[in-house]
Amino acid sequence: MTPSPSAEKTLLDSIVVDAHGHLLDLAADSGRRLHESLGGLTDVPLMRVGGVTAQLTACWMPDVRIGGPHGSRQPFRDVMRMLDYVHWELDGEAGDHVVLVRTAGDIEGAAAESKTALVLGLEGGDALRGDLGRLRALYEAGLRHVCLVHEGRNAMGVATQVWEDSTMRVYDPRVDAPGGLSSAGKRIVREMNRLGMLVDVTHMVEESFWDTLEVSTAPVIASHGNARSLRDTVRYLTDEQIRAVAETGGIICPSPFPLGPTRERPSLEMMLRHVDHMVRLVGPDHVGFGTDFLDQTGFRPAGFGDVGETPRFVEGLLELGYGDAAIRKIMGGNFLRVFRRVAG
Ligand SMILES: [Zn+2]
Repeated sequence: MTPSPSAEKTLLDSIVVDAHGHLLDLAADSGRRLHESLGGLTDVPLMRVGGVTAQLTACWMPDVRIGGPHGSRQPFRDVMRMLDYVHWELDGEAGDHVVLVRTAGDIEGAAAESKTALVLGLEGGDALRGDLGRLRALYEAGLRHVCLVHEGRNAMGVATQVWEDSTMRVYDPRVDAPGGLSSAGKRIVREMNRLGMLVDVTHMVEESFWDTLEVSTAPVIASHGNARSLRDTVRYLTDEQIRAVAETGGIICPSPFPLGPTRERPSLEMMLRHVDHMVRLVGPDHVGFGTDFLDQTGFRPAGFGDVGETPRFVEGLLELGYGDAAIRKIMGGNFLRVFRRVAG
């Protein structure tokens, strides 16, 4: 399917932001240049094909102490290495194509220069181990986002799926210790507000989620989250949670991946249903999109196989009857508004 001229036009003169991708995880491990093709579902050449201006690239560096097969013994050191890779690359040839952005204005500047913008983030704040000094060091290195938890219970809060004896299971409030934010987690959220970093509530159990909303004085985001009222799985957000994120001024960003323990098949059609549900619930000002694309080439979502196919998402929104203004907001305008308010 070739995108219609109207989808192409909307993308050409809009700022488009993928609120959750794993470009940096892919690039740093590849031995390739940051701006080169990486063979997965997201990279700089694919973003250019897809008309995507910016990616919130969320480094995934779990802590071995939390469990799971991929944990790092020194997650903070390893995150610093990934950020060092970005800076090293941008000092070289990649700097002609890619820019590390710290503010909304930087994203607009990247768009004006036809460069690809990267917003640096963390998926799972495990590496912080609840330490404000580590947070500030990462901020200085360019980090502008932390998704506080990912898998398991870290020093700050609890995720919907937790590790037990090297298998992952769903957090159970009747058996497990309470799932709220720790005092370290609350301190981290306050410091992120003060510094100007995006607080991401994706993957949180409800108790941690509600604690975060109570503590945060800035809009929060769910960078890749679908709606529980369409599919009942712990990983998704209830309508009450979606309304609450919108009330902070923030955004919820559906993904073409099922995200967690559900038998849904990854597809554009599924993502569009979640987007449409949220727009009906909270209006077009509080919805974005977060692909969660990594290297899952065996699991290409039907109809949205990689980030190069982003025009198909626009096509889908047009077919749902959305107007130009709403589409521009969902594609990136809303992210830009929230990022401006939080980071400047
Ligand atoms: Zn995730």
